[in-house]
Amino acid sequence: MDYYSKTTTKLIAELGHLPGIGQKSAQRLAFHILHMPEEQVRELSSAILDARTSARFCRECCTLTDEDICPICASDKRDHKTIMVVEDTRDLVAYEKTGQYNGVYHVLQGAINPMQGINPTDIRLKELMIRLQGDVDEVILATNSTLEGEATAMYISKLLKDTGIRVTRIASGVPVGGDLEYVDEVTLLKALENRTEL
Ligand code: ZN
Repeated sequence: MDYYSKTTTKLIAELGHLPGIGQKSAQRLAFHILHMPEEQVRELSSAILDARTSARFCRECCTLTDEDICPICASDKRDHKTIMVVEDTRDLVAYEKTGQYNGVYHVLQGAINPMQGINPTDIRLKELMIRLQGDVDEVILATNSTLEGEATAMYISKLLKDTGIRVTRIASGVPVGGDLEYVDEVTLLKALENRTEL
């Protein structure tokens, strides 16, 4: 039997579907929302809906953006001949926060993970290969140093072997198994500076 009203139960259930939100947290959030001014709740729900409705993948680098071409790809101040390959948009943001990288990105939207049935065709690899037919000097493989990230980097480096494009891998200063997102900026910069040729 439900102790809460139907609508409250539904709210708790929906919040509980979010990552890292268990049953207790879902209840806590739900009650917080129920005590918020109605106007603020409207703002919150329309922010969620607006962000989701306008979210799309950049036509160039596949990052999540609300434009056809993201601001980085659209900028003529960036070095479009250097492409850093990352797993997701949060990794891109981590590198952008260092303020020291002037190239562009390619966001794979995942990593190869055969155990979970994620194959090369399931990530944005085809889009990368199409981009590399253009004028590119260097591809920096900045996938995570997890098993999947390493496997993905190896896979891409093999694909690029005979293309004449310089392929580098960020240094393993990034803790093994650590998502790039959680690594501090100094470590990220070091990893980038000490990248090695593949
Ligand atoms: Zn882009």
